[in-house]
Amino acid sequence: SAPILEVKNLQKHYPYKKGLFQKPGLTKALDGVSLTIERGETVAIVGESGSGKTTLGKTLLRLIEPTGGEVHFKGRDITELSAEQMRKLKADMQIVFQDPYGSLDPKWTIGRTLEEPLRTHRSHLSGAALKQEVNAMLERVGLQPHHGERYPHELSGGQRQRIGIARALILQPELVVLDEPVSALDVSIQSQILNLMQDLQTEMGLTYLFISHDLSVVRFISNRVAVMYLGKVVEIGETKEVFNNPLHPYTEALISAIPVPNPNLKRERIVLAGDIPSPRNQPSGCAFHTRCPKAMAQCKTLQPDLKEIGSKHYAACHLF
Ligand code: SF4
Repeated sequence: SAPILEVKNLQKHYPYKKGLFQKPGLTKALDGVSLTIERGETVAIVGESGSGKTTLGKTLLRLIEPTGGEVHFKGRDITELSAEQMRKLKADMQIVFQDPYGSLDPKWTIGRTLEEPLRTHRSHLSGAALKQEVNAMLERVGLQPHHGERYPHELSGGQRQRIGIARALILQPELVVLDEPVSALDVSIQSQILNLMQDLQTEMGLTYLFISHDLSVVRFISNRVAVMYLGKVVEIGETKEVFNNPLHPYTEALISAIPVPNPNLKRERIVLAGDIPSPRNQPSGCAFHTRCPKAMAQCKTLQPDLKEIGSKHYAACHLF
């Protein structure tokens, strides 16, 4: 069947002025991202902060407007839709943020927060039916109907994230962008929320785009993983394959930094020099050449394309 989401050469460039007498430059937050997501799968986007992964998630839902490229959702290029058409589509595409506290209205009860999307998108529902839907959703995320009468500050971090998930799912969307959904939670709570998200995915037939900097979480939750560096996808493949056989030197370094549970299992950690450069100052050629332990002369001038190296395993690097 056709993929649920097809992203083609997506760009988000912001103009900025350098000094008073200098020419304006371009910040390339997203620099030509192409990606396909099949129905029912979980694709993870990983990278350091500044890699563009959050910008990608928000641009896919047009919470940020792209400056180029296409986003086909169920076959339709949504970058061409009007605000009103986009509003209708909101029921099908939702986002869960890292910190639900910041996105929940502190003056609203949880019940009211969950009712709001239903009032907008399912205006035919009666008051009793609304309440029923809200209670059913609370139960689905492991909470009781009485939680609907509470305010956000009366809940724990884990409970608040359950509400963030409930709010995203109450309209029965098809695609959900999860932007670091467990990063703000204690490790003991993280696995509960990850398991909940997996159960809900199966029950409700959801497709996930899972944004994270945490590779252990990504390994657990995703079917495929895309690694981003300075606004570009540098490697993408099936999760198992990428973790067992990373191709791009950047991916290799990221994976080498994951703590190994067994201390006898010695693995060399690749430490990268310096921080990720500012997207305002994209290095020439391969943008990773300033930190790459395997950089060659051509890497400074020639930009590598994303090429299929193994089965469904792509990397953008001159080594291949
Ligand atoms: Fe390193 Fe060159 Fe490959 Fe870039 S293209 S990742 S600099 S080896």
